[in-house]
Amino acid sequence: MSTITIKAECHCKSNAFDVCFLASSLPISAPMCHCNACRHSTGQIFTQCLPIQSAPLTPNDTGNFADLQYLQQYQTTSASSNWFCKKCNAFFFATFQDSSGLLKWSVFPGILEKIEGLFTTAHHEFVEETCDGGKADHYRRPHGVEVLHYQTTSTDGSVLPMNWTNEHVSDVFIQPLADDATFNAYCHCGSIQLTIGRPLKHVQPNDGPFAVKPNPVSIQPQHGLRYQAAHCFCTSCRVTSGSTITSWGFAAANHVIDRKTSKPALAFNPEGSPFFVKNIEGTNQYESSPNKFRESCAKCGAHVFFWDATRPVGFIDVAPGLFDQDAEGSRVERYFAWTRTLFDDDALDRKVVKDLRDGMQEYYGVPSGIWPEI
Ligand SMILES: [Zn+2]
Ligand SMILES: [Zn+2]
Ligand SMILES: [Zn+2]
Ligand SMILES: [Zn+2]
Repeated sequence: MSTITIKAECHCKSNAFDVCFLASSLPISAPMCHCNACRHSTGQIFTQCLPIQSAPLTPNDTGNFADLQYLQQYQTTSASSNWFCKKCNAFFFATFQDSSGLLKWSVFPGILEKIEGLFTTAHHEFVEETCDGGKADHYRRPHGVEVLHYQTTSTDGSVLPMNWTNEHVSDVFIQPLADDATFNAYCHCGSIQLTIGRPLKHVQPNDGPFAVKPNPVSIQPQHGLRYQAAHCFCTSCRVTSGSTITSWGFAAANHVIDRKTSKPALAFNPEGSPFFVKNIEGTNQYESSPNKFRESCAKCGAHVFFWDATRPVGFIDVAPGLFDQDAEGSRVERYFAWTRTLFDDDALDRKVVKDLRDGMQEYYGVPSGIWPEI
């Protein structure tokens, strides 16, 4: 059996492995999962893992199993676990124990050295749990082919139409938001509990790059101002998340409240430099470049924030996988306008960028990146 070996390494380089794929199985046809457990345990709005031939191997060795001591394991169900870097929180592996007790390994493709030709997206699954179609409606035609949106799994077989939204979210979506409206966000283990307030004109005087007026084509005008949300392809996001696409919602820092303390997750620093200091417990902090911090749940590993302590406008990038899908839908579109992709040139597979941008344009009727700003 011939195999292809690819190196997997995270941003902080505490962890590096070789992983093997069966050559005859390439490209792997992998589902994109939108289930609540995947979203809330990673902070991403989908996960897509690729089955590998064995447990991870020591790099450049003769097939010896690697030391996993610098990975943290979190059990998402009694049979499933995620494995992420203890230092930078990059997701490396998911494991599943089958009924015979055999542990099956799969890898998060964002930490792989190369992915071109390695996998395609078979279909979207557990779309029903998003309540609004989630990212499946943005990524409509992977590699140019329209794929099915399964309610749960392809084995179960029930399919949802494109642009599906459940009744509750459809009803909520046409209601105007009160000025003091909020929604909740939480990680899988419950350690991180946030409340996020809607954008208001007076949030910051210079919030131009981050808040947008409603898109007149698809959004009700009564929603008023919304924050921006985007799908990022930058290398730093990719190798700290393990996801080939890392999504963020850009919210006003003083409107992102830690529900345990009722205080903002970032506090203004009266000294002025850096402009902000962390004000939330329960996160593992990683400085991915000077003064740029990534916060993840210290227990389940879910990514929570990216923030720049030198960014004076006071916006914080929130991981949208934490958003409470039941109240507003997983994209929370009364609060966030999904306007663009970021750092397209860094993508490992440029076809994915094009498919995603085309899908967003088709869904919203507006090309990615040119939505009207204030
Ligand atoms: Zn899932
Ligand atoms: Zn790392
Ligand atoms: Zn957690
Ligand atoms: Zn990024």
